[in-house]
Amino acid sequence: MSWEANVRQVIPYVPGEQPKKKVIKLNTNENPYPPSQKVKKALEDFDIDKLRLYPDVNAGELGEGLARYYNVLPEQTFVGVGSDDVLATAFLTFFNSDKPILFPEITYSFYDVWANLYNIPFKQVEMDENFRIRKEDYYGENGGIVIPNPNAPTGLAKDPGDIEDIIRHNPDSVVIIDEAYVDFGATSVLPLINKYDNLLVVQTFSKSRSMAGARIGMAFGSKKLIKYLNDVKFSINSYTMNILTVTAGKAMLDDDGYFKDTVEKIVATRERVKKELKALDFEFPDSKSNFIFARHKSVPAVDILNAAREEGIYLRHFKKPERINDYLRISIGTDEEMDSLVDFLKGFLGR
Ligand SMILES: *Cc1c(COP(=O)(O)O)cnc(C)c1O
Repeated sequence: MSWEANVRQVIPYVPGEQPKKKVIKLNTNENPYPPSQKVKKALEDFDIDKLRLYPDVNAGELGEGLARYYNVLPEQTFVGVGSDDVLATAFLTFFNSDKPILFPEITYSFYDVWANLYNIPFKQVEMDENFRIRKEDYYGENGGIVIPNPNAPTGLAKDPGDIEDIIRHNPDSVVIIDEAYVDFGATSVLPLINKYDNLLVVQTFSKSRSMAGARIGMAFGSKKLIKYLNDVKFSINSYTMNILTVTAGKAMLDDDGYFKDTVEKIVATRERVKKELKALDFEFPDSKSNFIFARHKSVPAVDILNAAREEGIYLRHFKKPERINDYLRISIGTDEEMDSLVDFLKGFLGR
């Protein structure tokens, strides 16, 4: 049994449940709308002979398309198998100091998992009583910074000016801004990659582009940063993204009108649901993402969670830290799905 002493033992990230039966799934922030029909067409037209060859290491036409779409150079673009892959590679590449990396105390629960996996020291930075990130708390010495904007699971967005202040105060660290939800109402700091060579902006097709199942994530940064990222990637597995995914992703990227329409619909639904939840005595930070992080004024979160589940409505609850265990994270579904949720809540709360 002595070999076990040398195992890299980790406590893994626990993803939201993927139920087998059909439910109203508001627990993992997926997009309720399908990808563009152009994705379907592109896959139907796909030439299977292309599968004989290894794929392009920079995701071929998807990497080039992203550079064009976001008005950056291909050498400033990195594509990974979901942004989890991009972020894990970035942690391994850039967080190599004895000083702790910094991220908010309430945030994406994968950050501490990667930090532990790679033995990166970290410090979870307190937030104010309204779950706001205070930029000044990120001005001290550190080994790197990672902040989601908007933050998850609070949904709160920071002004790009505040993010820039954090970057400007940290010329000796790489600052990663995780923009998984940026399309739902925050402002991207992507243009700043030309001004700060230590800024990495990470985005994904999983939420706003309806393609969580395809696993497409991307990062933008200075040429230098992207080169370092590729050096690490090419030391593990050069061919991370397969050609079918490249084809599907490029087709989705090309249907910008459809993308913008679905995002707009989700934002409209979110704003309507905010009013309905407020009327039912929920309180929540003002979300700029595709979910609402809500607490009921008198009914415990777990009671609502379990009762909703009985009705086939799945929500997300986090036990840790204690400060958020009264909250439920509610993903924004279609209008019909949200109506079902509101109807259930009215019944359950006796309205
Ligand atoms: C969903 C999410 C990701 C990861 O998404 P991928 O599906 O791996 O692209 C990264 N960061 C945050 C904050 C997220 O919520």
